[in-house]
Amino acid sequence: LTPATTFRLDNRFARELPEMAIAWTGEGAPGPRLLVLDEHLAEELGLDPDWLRSAEGLELLVGTGVVEGATPVAQAYSGHQFGGFSPRLGDGRALLLGELTDADGNVRDLHLKGSGRTPFARAGDGLAVVGPMLREYIVSQALHALGIPTTRSLAVVATGRPVQRETIVPGAVLARIASSHLRVGSFQFASLTEDPDLLRRLADHAINRHHASAAPSDRPYLALLEAVIAAQADLVARWMLVGFVHGVMNTDNMTISGESIDFGPCAFLDAYDPAAVYSSIDRDGRYAFGNQPAIAQWNLTRLAETLLPLIDDDQDTAIELATTSLRGFAARYENAWASGMRAKLGLPEGSDATVLTEELLDLLRTHQVDYTSFFRSLSGAARGDLEPTRGLFPHPVTADDWLARWSAQEPQAKLMDEVNPAYIPRNHLVEEALAAATDGDLAPLARLMEAVTSPYDERPGLERYAVPAPADFGTYRTFC
Ligand code: AMP
Ligand code: MG
Ligand code: MG
Repeated sequence: LTPATTFRLDNRFARELPEMAIAWTGEGAPGPRLLVLDEHLAEELGLDPDWLRSAEGLELLVGTGVVEGATPVAQAYSGHQFGGFSPRLGDGRALLLGELTDADGNVRDLHLKGSGRTPFARAGDGLAVVGPMLREYIVSQALHALGIPTTRSLAVVATGRPVQRETIVPGAVLARIASSHLRVGSFQFASLTEDPDLLRRLADHAINRHHASAAPSDRPYLALLEAVIAAQADLVARWMLVGFVHGVMNTDNMTISGESIDFGPCAFLDAYDPAAVYSSIDRDGRYAFGNQPAIAQWNLTRLAETLLPLIDDDQDTAIELATTSLRGFAARYENAWASGMRAKLGLPEGSDATVLTEELLDLLRTHQVDYTSFFRSLSGAARGDLEPTRGLFPHPVTADDWLARWSAQEPQAKLMDEVNPAYIPRNHLVEEALAAATDGDLAPLARLMEAVTSPYDERPGLERYAVPAPADFGTYRTFC
């Protein structure tokens, strides 16, 4: 390919970690058609949106057009899936095309999902379909707009290939941008090879790309572990504050960078409920909303185990050090969450909102109050208009006692609308947009994107994006 715009794809992962990369190309698409493109992101990456729309650009976006100098690869990784270990997962239907350097000088992966079978495909068909790829597009753009670290979606291209799922559905490829695709499962894979040189190269690669502050430490690999713990504690706190349920927090779906990744059966809470599970495959509720912090710590413990040989030659010492670091997760998480919750309540940094918060979450859960609407209404309540907030409860008096005690703390309305979104990708609206797009109508998707990409800025005409699902929407289940 000779892109109209000058951009280079590096093959740094493939070069530095060849044991974890299999050179591969996409299967190709019989009738590629661009469904969505994030033009702003394209420009940030130095990619010309017009070129991406061209026949050549579409070849890049489905994995058949190779940029000079690039080595597209399927990446190897392992993973604990719902607690059970799979030593060889890897990119069964994805390709890392290479790394590019964005306008700010940051190295970022250009990656495709749904580009065809690879040597890691096992029984899978290597394909992805329009609905789930657009779901990833919606959710990743929404999280980004909410200020939450996440992989980004550059484009979704319909392939023109029918794909067998529960019914026959249209195929698609997602082009994804990430600060890298290193996962906890990447370290599990390197660890299993029992090649200390590979593990060290992987850890050095991770430090270099994401956690440079670990390099000068006396114990750089312990510092790497601590940096990942901190990044993940902050990330999961952000998910919890906004009511996001990832849905499949397997170790292969947890990044080393601290970005959210791999949105399968994910969803946003409507009624506040720590037990909320939306994934059709999560039968035991392992990845329920309220379990996410504990699961993150469990996954980080799996990461720590892989790093032990690098942390200290004496394994007892290494275990002791790593255990102490892992204990830091809870404090970091609690701190991030509590300070975020104070901001949502409009209370100043440093004030103690512990009791108020506990009581509030109890009220919201007991009365099944819509989480996003409640917090968005609170800035009005802080300005003296309590009725919208009271009206969210089945009996308006229910919240009066709590509202009185909260008001007495003099909440500041001004900052609240900057942390409590009006618009999240509500499950019924996501389903509506995906169903229409699968049938060829992209208009509902465009309107939803308009709402969720400026989530804090409430605008007229978008009222239906700011309210919960109608009662007849029923219990939400997602499939991946
Ligand atoms: P995920 O559930 O998307 O995180 O994927 C878990 C593993 O299954 C990864 O190794 C994927 O590459 C693989 N996988 C998922 N769907 C397919 C598919 N349709 N074809 C081949 N591999 C797949
Ligand atoms: Mg995955
Ligand atoms: Mg996946």
